[in-house]
Amino acid sequence: MTQAIANLNQANTSILKALKCKECGAEYELQASHVCELCFGPLEVKYDYDVLRQFVSRKSIETGPNSIWRYRQFLPVATDNYIDVGTGMTPLVHSHRLARRLGLNKLYIKNDAVNIPTLSFKDRVVSVALSRARELGFTTVSCASTGNLANSTAAIAAYAGLDCCVFIPADLEAGKVLGSLIYSPTLMAVKGNYDQVNRLCSEVANTHGWGFVNINLRPYYSEGSKTLGFEVAEQLGWELPDHIVAPLASGSLFTKIYKGFKEFTKVGLVQGKNVRFSGAQAEGCSPIATAFQERRDFIQPVKPNTIAKSIAIGNPADGVYAIEIAQKTRGNIESVSDAEIIDGIKLLAETEGIFTETAGGTTIAVLKKLVEASKIDPDETTVVYITGNGLKTQEAIQGYVGEPLTIDAKLDSFERALERSRTLDRLEWQQVLV
Ligand SMILES: *Cc1c(COP(=O)(O)O)cnc(C)c1O
Repeated sequence: MTQAIANLNQANTSILKALKCKECGAEYELQASHVCELCFGPLEVKYDYDVLRQFVSRKSIETGPNSIWRYRQFLPVATDNYIDVGTGMTPLVHSHRLARRLGLNKLYIKNDAVNIPTLSFKDRVVSVALSRARELGFTTVSCASTGNLANSTAAIAAYAGLDCCVFIPADLEAGKVLGSLIYSPTLMAVKGNYDQVNRLCSEVANTHGWGFVNINLRPYYSEGSKTLGFEVAEQLGWELPDHIVAPLASGSLFTKIYKGFKEFTKVGLVQGKNVRFSGAQAEGCSPIATAFQERRDFIQPVKPNTIAKSIAIGNPADGVYAIEIAQKTRGNIESVSDAEIIDGIKLLAETEGIFTETAGGTTIAVLKKLVEASKIDPDETTVVYITGNGLKTQEAIQGYVGEPLTIDAKLDSFERALERSRTLDRLEWQQVLV
């Protein structure tokens, strides 16, 4: 081993300190566990920021890999043998047409609909979780998923040569089911909703010794979401935005973007500021938004019923922490109907050329709602997080988009069809105008 690598590995182990309970502060070894034995609070990875600070600079990050691993000192892996499939560094799009439509002056879209390898933000958390799983000696990896997580776990397990068994609710969209099966995992389609899938998986985790990315590996998995904060700060030229809008399922992603901004501030990579955090849920599964609106600090679990299946978690593990952050930063948590979600998907596609799934439609619809209620200032630098790809949830918009004009392979057939479509367009416009 060269001296440089030896030094780095030494740094890795001295940066990573422990698993620490978010509630009572008890500390544990960096093993595969996620619940405090004393108070049942969730465990989180603790770092030594004084050591970390010595190993990172804007320059060291900028010259690192073009993936989430450019932030590797902030991620919970002990060796440099991490799994780099190219996840992360997705575009931060400076919005012009959507911004103008909504009346915002500084809107950015973080586009994880094109993340690698499976077109959702889940590639971030899985890249980290499976890297740690391998370090801890797991040979089989698993997850309880609303769809995207299963796609990601199956794909990255295939890349890393790990055995994989993933669990989903049986009623998922075809694109999500196929998007897992193609990697040949064992796919369990459970007759029940996500919360029931999750409960079953907790039992399997106890009996089978597998690495469940979002159960016993959850403290490592969730750290992957911090990169959504890191990248935005770097892509804005090492500055934090004024306001972010992100979807909430378990609430984990939301809380970790916050942690990411805090860490960058703590080690001096950006100037600290109060970033406002606003969250988006679907009305058909809005336990966090409801608690926020009712000014409660506890979550009342619900039974999901919405087209936004990827964020349909009725009993969200990090819900209370998400509420705390929205309150503390003077943000909001709102919910929107399935009809508004479809409009949100179409609005983003028509103004920015980005085809997002139902979670993204939810986020865009909530962004619009917040602007209309004057809960976002037009001059705030606002970042909206698009977390998944629309090709996976085609059922949701079936019947809400136009039809192709089927024609003969002849010029006159084309001309007639074109004329017909223009007449239809005019009629639609007349209806809009009256
Ligand atoms: C899982 C998921 C989320 C939210 O995840 P949490 O961290 O559980 O809140 C958002 N968008 C998409 C597309 C997802 O798949």
